[in-house]
Amino acid sequence: MLKRLIYGSRAVDANSTNLRAILTASRIGNPKAGITGALCLLDGVYMQYLEGDECAVEALYARIEVDARHRAPVVLDRTFIAVREFPEWSMALLAWDERIKAIMGLHGLRPPGSTPRDIAPDHAAAFFRALAATPNWVSL
Ligand code: FAD
Repeated sequence: MLKRLIYGSRAVDANSTNLRAILTASRIGNPKAGITGALCLLDGVYMQYLEGDECAVEALYARIEVDARHRAPVVLDRTFIAVREFPEWSMALLAWDERIKAIMGLHGLRPPGSTPRDIAPDHAAAFFRALAATPNWVSL
């Protein structure tokens, strides 16, 4: 069955070498596993949306969860879905601006006190969708 898993975590040293390595692993591994989705990095916080076969998604998340390049991952949403939301894999760096702050506010988050990782689980998918629709979404 098709499943989506969304989590948030705090980046440990989100330098370009780490980002490039994560991106390379994702571009090679995800298509092989039939996983699509998106990963964004906003002010030191990762948020990733993974979708695919349940076993493949859970196996990937088990590897990601123990990755030392981030810490304190929190699963925000783990739901069976009928169709994919992000059929093309993408990874983005988001820049803070009033638009992002407004989207956060709409979903009950007040920066800088709260980060995307603090999103209520029932808002996670809609919040991610709204972020991905902004011009701030700079695909890497
Ligand atoms: P190996 O590459 O054999 O590595 C062994 C261990 O070392 C693993 O625990 C790995 O996490 C860790 N590791 C590997 N490289 C580094 C490094 N440069 N610095 C520190 N630790 C390292 N992978 C995907 O395939 N798809 C994704 O969508 C994906 N998203 C990710 C999102 C985030 C925020 C992070 C931090 C990582 C992501 N990864 C993703 C990478 C994933 O965690 C694994 O490293 C990757 O899948 C390779 O797994 P492996 O078991 O073959 O580990």
